[in-house]
Amino acid sequence: MFGGRLFLLLQDLNRKRCDRCSLHYEKHNDKCPHCSDMNDFELKVFLEEGGIDPNAKSGIGQFLIFAAIIILFIFLLSKILKT
Ligand SMILES: [Zn+2]
Repeated sequence: MFGGRLFLLLQDLNRKRCDRCSLHYEKHNDKCPHCSDMNDFELKVFLEEGGIDPNAKSGIGQFLIFAAIIILFIFLLSKILKT
């Protein structure tokens, strides 16, 4: 466990954070590989979509809506069954 943390720390020391898109990249790259080929508009869209993996964010949102519908359905069903 300690070894894993040390490894993460070493990995972090070898990386730096981009001022532009706030993602991490390895120090040996002189330009950020995430945003160096984007113009300002593309970068803005990229950041508004939630960074590196926009699908993950909307996936969680869809799951929460789905869960809310299930809970509401169970709640209504229990009310119907009681009356
Ligand atoms: Zn960047």
